[in-house]
Amino acid sequence: MSSDRELIDKETKEHLFEYYEYKCARCGYDDFPQILQIHHVVPVSIGGNNAISNLIILCPNCHRLYHSGILDMVDIRLYQRSEKGFYLTTKWSDP
Ligand SMILES: [Zn+2]
Ligand SMILES: [Zn+2]
Repeated sequence: MSSDRELIDKETKEHLFEYYEYKCARCGYDDFPQILQIHHVVPVSIGGNNAISNLIILCPNCHRLYHSGILDMVDIRLYQRSEKGFYLTTKWSDP
């Protein structure tokens, strides 16, 4: 789990945080945006990539819930913004 935030370039991070409006995608936490974390929906270890469509912003609590197995990948997907919405609001294109 410690590799989540590695290898994601600055531009992708900026797009991602803007996309999620500097809030936890699950609970909406935004008191201290600097502690928000980037999580891979599909883990890199099983083929997930660093595309925005595979990334989500979570607060440390929600991130922990996922990594302790309380939330699963399906739960997390429910909180992801639709790719369609994303493409409509930014010029980002998935590599
Ligand atoms: Zn949260
Ligand atoms: Zn994670």
